[in-house]
Amino acid sequence: MPTIIYSLAFVLITMRPRITVEPPGPQARQIIQRDEELIMQSFARWYPLVAKRAWGVWIEDVDGNIYLDFNSGIGVNNTGHCHPKVVEAVKRQAELLLHYSLTDFLYEPPVKLAEKLVQITPGSFRKKVFFTNSGAESIEAGIKVARGHFRGTRPYLVAFAGSFHGRTMGALSLTSSKPVQRKSFGPLLPGVFHVPYPYCYRCPFRQKYPDCNLWCVDFIEEWLFKKYVPPEEVAAFVFEPIAGEGGYIVPPPEFFPRLRKLADKYGILLIADEVQSGFGRTGRWFAMEHWGVAPDAVAAAKGIASGLPLGALIGRADIMDLPPGSHASTFGGNPVSCAAALATIEVIEEEKLLDNAARVGDYALKRLREMQEKYPAIGDVRGKGLMIGVELVNQDGSPAPELLRAVLERAFKKGLLVIGAGVSTIRIAPPLVITQEEMETGLEILEAALREALTK
Ligand code: PLP
Repeated sequence: MPTIIYSLAFVLITMRPRITVEPPGPQARQIIQRDEELIMQSFARWYPLVAKRAWGVWIEDVDGNIYLDFNSGIGVNNTGHCHPKVVEAVKRQAELLLHYSLTDFLYEPPVKLAEKLVQITPGSFRKKVFFTNSGAESIEAGIKVARGHFRGTRPYLVAFAGSFHGRTMGALSLTSSKPVQRKSFGPLLPGVFHVPYPYCYRCPFRQKYPDCNLWCVDFIEEWLFKKYVPPEEVAAFVFEPIAGEGGYIVPPPEFFPRLRKLADKYGILLIADEVQSGFGRTGRWFAMEHWGVAPDAVAAAKGIASGLPLGALIGRADIMDLPPGSHASTFGGNPVSCAAALATIEVIEEEKLLDNAARVGDYALKRLREMQEKYPAIGDVRGKGLMIGVELVNQDGSPAPELLRAVLERAFKKGLLVIGAGVSTIRIAPPLVITQEEMETGLEILEAALREALTK
């Protein structure tokens, strides 16, 4: 049955997950065994979902179980799974031109997409785009643009402890959300300095917002720049507007305006890693809009093409000035991925998904804060739009990773797909097409899973 008819039929029959075989069922177990034999097991999977097909906010596994998706394939399927318009655009482009490499030749879809990207990214200045295949590659491009633009006179980069920027060696050098991500891979890129991320719920400086008066920004100037890193040799600050993998952490309202001011004082670039927070996830095209700060460059990927591999660095035209031959990618800007991205932007506009993300996200935050009143194990609820973190804690307020795992496993068995971030935070990031009713269904399952995990 075509996905659209299947999905309509399903929506008419039921609006709830349907678990008919306890997962992992027999078909799933077979694939899990083959996966273990053949695929390098370097992933840290939360539970054994073996997906078969998906539509909207629903995922069917190989044993016929149907789950509600609060993950979006980790912040990717923002337009909902297999959106018919995206699928149609992919099919149309696949019949015309699959590949011919922007490295040496030209074709139109990336140009059309760049025209759109420069409009929807923050900042009214002239911009240029470099296309990649992933988030990490967009960060790599950011590192090379920042260093290359200054022609080697500013070799240093400042990133934030607690952030995630990808796993290739350059991006990994900026990443600092879990030691296992870096362990045994050193030495990493030299010239990268980390300062604490503004994580007010567990302030690394043990300060209280707003009494702290944003010491986390002043610290950079007073300790980093005045003690050991000459600011005139720093090319860029690289940061996530909302820390994703590190725990769905939202910096306070003054943070980015203050960081912009500091950067401008020393001629340092701001590179926003919007790989996870971009493309409507927070109810705006890009999360930096919430702070009213335009970065000099934005790294994008994940939601950009609804699931096809694509990334981009979109930056001020005057800094996107690497010389010919100095940077390129065989697949970057693939025509099929670009067609999917153009359709993704159209769907987000036509279906008003930014508004939907903001509205359903506000509803979820309200419901989760009500739950927080009932369960002391919910230490913090935070987020913007449909990028929501629920930090679980022990009685003494310390992070509760075992509880997190127990909640996620129980939710899975009940038909809700949701994973964790940071040490003990539930990360809620459903497709932006989710309705309030579907959100409510998911939150009820999450509450039941939490209740069970707490009484066990
Ligand atoms: N930056 C951020 C903020 C991310 O969340 C991720 C992936 O989770 C990346 C970069 C790396 O993206 P990719 O896995 O596509 O390389």
